[in-house]
Order: sequence, then structure tokens, then C-alpha cells
Amino acid sequence: MRETEYETVIGLEVHVELATKSKIFCGCSTAFGAAPNTQVCPVCAGLPGALPVLNRRVVELAMAVGLAAHCHIGRVCRFDRKNYFYPDNPQNYQISQLYLPICRNGSLSIDTPAGEKQIRIHEIHMEEDAGKLIHDEWSDCSLVDYNRSGVPLIEIVSEPDLRNAEEVIAYLERLRLLIRYLGASDCRLQEGSMRADVNLSVREAGSRSLGTRTEMKNLNSFKAIAHAIEGERRRQIERLREGKSVVQETRRWDDNKEASFSMRSKEDAKDYRYFPDPDLPPVFIDEEWISRVRARLPEFQPEKQKRYQEQYGLSAEDSRILTESRRLAELFEETARLSGLPQKAANWLTGETGRLLKERGREADSLSFSPEHLAALIGLLESGRINRNTARLAFARMFDDDTDPLAYVTEHGLLTERDDSALEEAVRAALEENPGPAAQYREGKTKAFGFLMGQVMRKMDKKADPGHVRRLLEEML
Ligand code: ADP
Ligand code: MG
Ligand code: ZN
Repeated sequence: MRETEYETVIGLEVHVELATKSKIFCGCSTAFGAAPNTQVCPVCAGLPGALPVLNRRVVELAMAVGLAAHCHIGRVCRFDRKNYFYPDNPQNYQISQLYLPICRNGSLSIDTPAGEKQIRIHEIHMEEDAGKLIHDEWSDCSLVDYNRSGVPLIEIVSEPDLRNAEEVIAYLERLRLLIRYLGASDCRLQEGSMRADVNLSVREAGSRSLGTRTEMKNLNSFKAIAHAIEGERRRQIERLREGKSVVQETRRWDDNKEASFSMRSKEDAKDYRYFPDPDLPPVFIDEEWISRVRARLPEFQPEKQKRYQEQYGLSAEDSRILTESRRLAELFEETARLSGLPQKAANWLTGETGRLLKERGREADSLSFSPEHLAALIGLLESGRINRNTARLAFARMFDDDTDPLAYVTEHGLLTERDDSALEEAVRAALEENPGPAAQYREGKTKAFGFLMGQVMRKMDKKADPGHVRRLLEEML
């Protein structure tokens, strides 16, 4: 008998911390890394009688993400209290949105081996983050830091349209790029500014109904997500093959042990006793407000990539790399404009830039050199005033602290020799010292030319413009 084939079904709940200056319902700072409990007020500490006031910027960022993900924006949205008791949650309820979330019915397209695929988005809602518990192994108590309490979050809930780890990662990458383009968050999984909960079930291939799902939390890298999906898929299939059932529950993935563990059985929504927050009035969103937010949306990655190929004649691959960060794309467009040499700009921003980013362990969004300096560097190199070696040196300095390349090469005496008499002298000397190769070249052995070039460059201390040397050497041969 053939064994039953199973299909994996996955839906994601993604929390993203929004990059606002202040918290969602009070004026406290959201800056990361402050001493514990120094960014706290009666509102975000949940003191009785304190009243929340909604941060307008949070609504606009949530709306922008929703519009970018083709969602319908609700004309009225409202906040609800999700009641639960836990020490990181000082009010004993979290302010979230259940009944009237801000965005509904969107979609994001991802690339799969079988072509483009639409992943439907069920909703996006706004909510507040909880504080952070610190479990100190050496003491018999836990500590809590409320600096994070009240930091704005959006939760993006997908429909169960994903089928494997590759699709999940493609979806998360698409979402992350979109949110970074908006400047709405840096979306770092490791640091918790983006957190993905994976809901996973399996069903017999061909079946249209959904199997019982589990939810996995604590996934802080794409690698952990891929491992967790593979591990949980196998665990569920094994249970079904043994004739057991899958229990609907929340499981914690331990990437070191490469296994998931039951955390708690999944509460029903009603256990949270949701009800509209009486302290916060509903938010009315009119067409005009939506239009204003829509008008400010940037050109996103897919359109940008396409435009670069058409407008600048770049390859699909160069265009993809340049548009993977909005900062990089801006640097490229400005440098292309200032230098008039888009392909040269693209080469520096993909090649050397990529290499140095990797070496320094940095991300493209953090690039800090100016397009003026890169354009100047390209100009110096292309006009032959510096050679490629020098250009690389100057670029590395510029990459680290935006050093002006012209000032740098002037200061270090790295401009190519313009003094033709010195160069002529070097060529003459090289020809005299190497009569063999010179004769070979004259007899038609072009290989000897490279050798003679090298000799001249060495005599010039590598400070000559190779194009110039080539011309002079040809002439004098
Ligand atoms: P809850 O409110 O309990 O978190 P939801 O119905 O809102 O549950 O679903 C949460 C997430 O789980 C969504 O992303 C949804 O697509 C996904 N999901 C729901 N049912 C299944 C299932 N049977 N298999 C896989 N994913 C599922
Ligand atoms: Mg959930
Ligand atoms: Zn506060």
C-alpha cells in the first residue's frame, strides 16, 4: 500500500516594531538601549487613572504598510482590550485591535520556482508591545524592564497560503524590504523588531479542508524558521501516520536542540475577554487622509528594479542588488546623475561596496558616504588622474568616513604623474633595459607588451595612468 502524501499549510503572524520616536499611547521615548525603566510614565506603566492618547504617526505607518500590501483601509477602526495577566503587562490587558483592525484583505506577491504567487493578507492591526522580563539564572527572582511597554507594533496576519520554508522566507523578505523602504522599521529578527509566529498544519494531499495547526514562537532567524518548519512538519506527519492526532497548541522552537516543545494549549479568543477600550475613541479615516498617505509612498523595489533595467540599461542582477536597500538605490541614482556614468556607479555600488559591507559586517541601509564623493572618485579614475589601485584605496576611506577622494589622493601624493617628461624617461629606460621583449613586440608578439607596461608602471611607482602609458609605449615602440 502506498503511504499517504501530506501537504504542509502555513500562515504567519508577523509583529513589527514601528520606528516612531515616542510610544503608541504616551510621549515616552522608544529609543533602544536605555537603562531599565527610565522610559516609563504612568500610562505605559499601567497606573490606575492614566489615560492613553493615540500617536498619529503609528496610524499613518500602519496605513502605509497596508496600502503597500494592497489592503483595504477601514474607514473606522477601534482599539480593544485583550485581557490577560502576566508580569510584563502592567495593565493586565494589552491594547490591540480585534473587531475593527485598520487594514484588511491585502496581498503580497512572492517569487517561487513555479512563478509569481500571491499570498493573501487577512489583516494588519496596531497594538502595544509588552515590557521585557529578565530571568537571571543566579538569583531567585525575575526582573522586568518596562521601557518596551507601549512601543508600537503592527501585526500582519497572512491567510494560510504558504506551503514550505522557501515560500515563508520569500514572504518575510518581501515584507521586510517593503517596510524598510517605508522607513517604518528596521525589521531585525535577531533584535526582535520583527518577530514571526509560524502556524503550521498538514493535510492529505488534495484535501481542501485544513488540518489542526500548531503555532511556533521564538524564531529569531530565517535559519531557525526553516528548521522549525521542517521539524514541525515531520512531527505532525509522524503523529498522523501513527494514527494519533495533532493537538492545537503553542510550541516553542529551540534551535539548539532542533526540536519544538509544548508551551501551552492554545486559548480561545474568548479567554481574553476582548472588549472595546473605553479610554480610546474610534479612529475615523477619510479618503483625504488615505490619499495623503498614498501620495507619500515611495517607489518600491520591484518597480525600481524594472526601471533601472530600462532607464540605465543595467542587468537584472545589478538592478536587484541596488534596489535591495532604499539607501543604496538613492546613492546609485544620485551618483549616476552626478557622474553621468550609471554603469560605473553600479559597478562600485555592487562590487566594492558589497565586499566592504560584508567585511565590516554592515548593512547597505547604513551606508554613509555621499554620492558627490563617489562621483568624484569615478571622475578621477575615468579621466586617468588616479589608477584603479588608488581608486580602491580612496574608496575604502570614503566608505568608512566619507573622506573626500580628491583630498585623500592629493594628500597622499597618489595622483598619476602628468609630467610627460618623467613618463617618457621611464618608457625609454624600460625599452633600453629590455631590448628582448621590445624586439619581440615589434615582430608581432603582442604578449611582450604587457611585460613592458608592467616595467614602466613599476618605474613610475604605479602612479601613472595606464591608458596614457599604453599610448606612449605604443608610440615609442
Ligand atoms: P488566532 O486568532 O488564534 O491566532 P487566526 O485564525 O487568527 O488564529 O489565525 C492565525 C494564523 O494562523 C493566521 O496566519 C492563519 O492563516 C493561520 N492558520 C489558521 N488556521 C491554520 C491551519 N489550519 N493551518 C495553518 N495555518 C493556519
Ligand atoms: Mg494568533
Ligand atoms: Zn509612557
